[in-house]
Amino acid sequence: MICHGQEDGEHAHCTLAEEAEHAVGVSAFECYQCGKCTAGCPLAAEMDWSPHQILRLLQYAAPELEEQALRSLSIWLCLTCEQCVTRCPQEIDLPRLMEYLRQQSLERGLMHPQGRDILAFHEAFLDSVRKHGRLQEVGLVANYKLKTGHLLQDVLVAPRLLARGKLKLLPQGIKGKAAVRRIFERLQHDEGKEE
Ligand code: SF4
Ligand code: SF4
Repeated sequence: MICHGQEDGEHAHCTLAEEAEHAVGVSAFECYQCGKCTAGCPLAAEMDWSPHQILRLLQYAAPELEEQALRSLSIWLCLTCEQCVTRCPQEIDLPRLMEYLRQQSLERGLMHPQGRDILAFHEAFLDSVRKHGRLQEVGLVANYKLKTGHLLQDVLVAPRLLARGKLKLLPQGIKGKAAVRRIFERLQHDEGKEE
C-alpha cells in the first residue's frame, strides 16, 4: 500500500483515510463537503458527527481526529440505507466506509458505549435467524438482554405486547430452516477463507 500520509520521523505511515481506500475502495478525499448526504440521512439528527463531518475528520488526516471518528456513535447508528450514496454527486459509498470504520473501531478498542448495545442487538438478531430460520422476538430480546445486562429495560412493555399478540412465546418454524442455516455456514466458510 502506498501512503502519502503523516510523517513519523523518517517514515510515512498510512492515515485512516488511506487505509480505508486501500481496504474498501472508498476515498474520503473525493468528498467536497456539500452536505447532501447529511441532508438525506434519516439518522443524522441522532448522530454525534453527521455523515459529511465523519468524512471531514478523515480528511484532516490527524490521529486525534481519526480517533474521534472511530469513537463516534455515528458509525454505529448508520443503517446502511444508502440514501447518502444516491444523493452524493461524487458517488461516495459512505455505508461501505462506515462499515470499515466500525470494524476498525472494534479492532482498536475504541467503540462508543452505545455501539456495544447496537452490536449486541445485531448479534442477537442474527443468532435468532440462524437458529429458527426467521426472527423469534422473545428469544431475540432475551439474548440481547443477556448480552448487554439491560435485564429490566422495557420490561413493563412485555405484558402489553403479549396481550396484543405482538410477541409469540414459542418459536414459529419455517420450511426453509435448513436452507437458511446453510447460508450462514457458507458465509462463515467464505469469511474464514478471506482471513
Ligand atoms: S454528498 Fe458526497 S460529496 Fe457531498 S458531503 Fe456527502 S459525501 Fe461529500
Ligand atoms: S447509509 Fe448510513 S450515513 Fe448513509 S444515509 Fe443511510 S444511515 Fe445515513
